[in-house]
Amino acid sequence: MLSQEMMKLGKVRSVIRDIFEYGKKRAAEIGAENIFDFSLGNPSIPAPPEVDLAIKELTESGNTVALHGYTSAPGDPLVRQTVANHIATKFGVPITADSIYMTAGAAASLCITLKAMVVVGDEVIAFAPFFPEYKVFAEAAGAKLVVSKPFPTDLQIDTDLFQTLVTPATKAVIINSPNNPSGVVYREDTIKKVCAILCAKSEEYGHPIYLISDEPYRELVYGDVRVPYLMNYYQNTIVCYSYSKALSLPGERIGYIAVSPQSEDAKDLFAAIAGAGRALGYVCAPALFQKVIAKCIDATSDIRAYAKNRDAIYNGLTALGYNCIKPDGAFYLFVKSPEPDAYAFCEKAKKFELLLVPGDDFGCPGYVRIAYCVNPSLIQRSMPSFANLIGLYK
Ligand code: PLP
Repeated sequence: MLSQEMMKLGKVRSVIRDIFEYGKKRAAEIGAENIFDFSLGNPSIPAPPEVDLAIKELTESGNTVALHGYTSAPGDPLVRQTVANHIATKFGVPITADSIYMTAGAAASLCITLKAMVVVGDEVIAFAPFFPEYKVFAEAAGAKLVVSKPFPTDLQIDTDLFQTLVTPATKAVIINSPNNPSGVVYREDTIKKVCAILCAKSEEYGHPIYLISDEPYRELVYGDVRVPYLMNYYQNTIVCYSYSKALSLPGERIGYIAVSPQSEDAKDLFAAIAGAGRALGYVCAPALFQKVIAKCIDATSDIRAYAKNRDAIYNGLTALGYNCIKPDGAFYLFVKSPEPDAYAFCEKAKKFELLLVPGDDFGCPGYVRIAYCVNPSLIQRSMPSFANLIGLYK
């Protein structure tokens, strides 16, 4: 008999993918220019020129056998060194190459990290709204995902509620800031409270509770907003980083895990991460792109287009009467559905060719996610449809 769980996962597509597939079908029927697809978080701006240059230099280096060969399982030593130096310089953390494990993106980083620490009966806490795949990843590792609801007014973490959810079974807490799907950046005072709770509870229960910082959107912040670097606030931190969004390379599958050198059991934790990477069959992160990111470690895609899109969509929708928080980062807007059932609202939106994602799978029913990593003209052209949609509720 096949695994029923895996079969279910394979057959039931994520709601985001479902809407995206619907959009492709609809585009074939009425033309892509008539569809306003805000469903997918696929970067809409190109990778910076440093990436193309690095690929060119590497592929013309004359040693493509080595270039495309396996690297060591945790990554090419020079690449790990480059990443460690970058973190040390940028965030003032005394981290070295032996704490860096190169991965195939944040999804792999999270799966490996969870597999490395979870044992039967463990719980992992996520702060809603959260990336729906956390549930898949946590359960695949054998843990139960426990959801901590946010303050409805600003979607920051409700630390009083969070405190009640931490139990002796809590192995880890996943934090994602800037956040998918809300675009919220968690404030420093909130982070400090979360870390204080984790310190107290780790001491009370006599084992470390790990803080997993999922950071694909770290570089995507607007204005002078600062994203606290969690290793500087909490000892048992593991950073799951990805270049998918920062360098617009989601299809190339490249990122890393960084284990805080301050972790109580840093060496064993790193060994468990290496073991989990092995058990999950990752072998090594994509070799060419390990070397590419080492060559453009300080580069970021030009995110000014996202900042403009954020302003255009936020100003446009709020002027029409939609209710949402102005996002400080990532490329999502999380909008309050004008009716309690966000699925019903998204179905109505489809009548105006607007493809939005209900917030239920993100742990926040009654909201919809709009991914504004799109061509700016799409935002302009979609406004009459948004006006007609909210008109249904007036
Ligand atoms: N975590 C969050 C919050 C995301 O939004 C995504 C992708 O959209 C991922 C992880 C996975 O990213 P990657 O492409 O690096 O695997």
